[in-house]
Amino acid sequence: MGPVNHRRTALALGVVLSVVTAERAGGSFEWPMVAGMMAGSLMGARAPDILEIPMLTHAGRISVIPHRTWTHWWVPWMALSILLSTLMQTAHFALWLNAVIVGFVAASLLHLCMDLFSPTGIPLVVPTANYRAHLPGYQTGNASETVFALVVCLVFLGLAAFLWGNHGLWMMAWAHA
Ligand SMILES: [Zn+2]
Repeated sequence: MGPVNHRRTALALGVVLSVVTAERAGGSFEWPMVAGMMAGSLMGARAPDILEIPMLTHAGRISVIPHRTWTHWWVPWMALSILLSTLMQTAHFALWLNAVIVGFVAASLLHLCMDLFSPTGIPLVVPTANYRAHLPGYQTGNASETVFALVVCLVFLGLAAFLWGNHGLWMMAWAHA
C-alpha cells in the first residue's frame, strides 16, 4: 500500500482513538490529546516502511532491512506496545504524550493489517521466510488500493460517529466496569 493510503487510514483510526479517549475522559475533548493522537497516528502510518531505511538507487528500491520482513512482523510491534503501555502506567506522562504513543503504535499495527490485504502480504511466523500471509483485498498501486483504503476510512469514521453518538451508553458501560 502506498504512503498516501497508509496515511489516510491511520488518520481515520486516530479519529476513532481520539473519540474513545475523549469518552473515557468523561466526554470532553482535550485538544492537546487530539493533536497528539493525530500526530502519533501520522508518524506510525508509515513507520514499518520507513524503519526499513529504504534507498532509491538506479537499480530500484533497496533497503537496509529487507522489505516486509522484521519491521512488518507483528511480534516486535506487540512487544513494543506492551512495553510502552507498562511505561505509560508507571511514568504518568502528560495526556498528549500518551496520545502520541497510543496513536503511533496503533497506526503501525494498522499498517501491518493493511499490508496483509495486499498480494505480497506480511510475515506471520518467521519474519524472513518466503512464505507470507495475505488475505484477498486489493492490488497494490491501482484504483482498488485507494477504494480499499477509503472503505476502511469510512468504517473507522462511522465507528467514531457511532461511539460519539452513543455517548450515554458508553458512560454506563464504563461506570459498571
Ligand atoms: Zn508496509
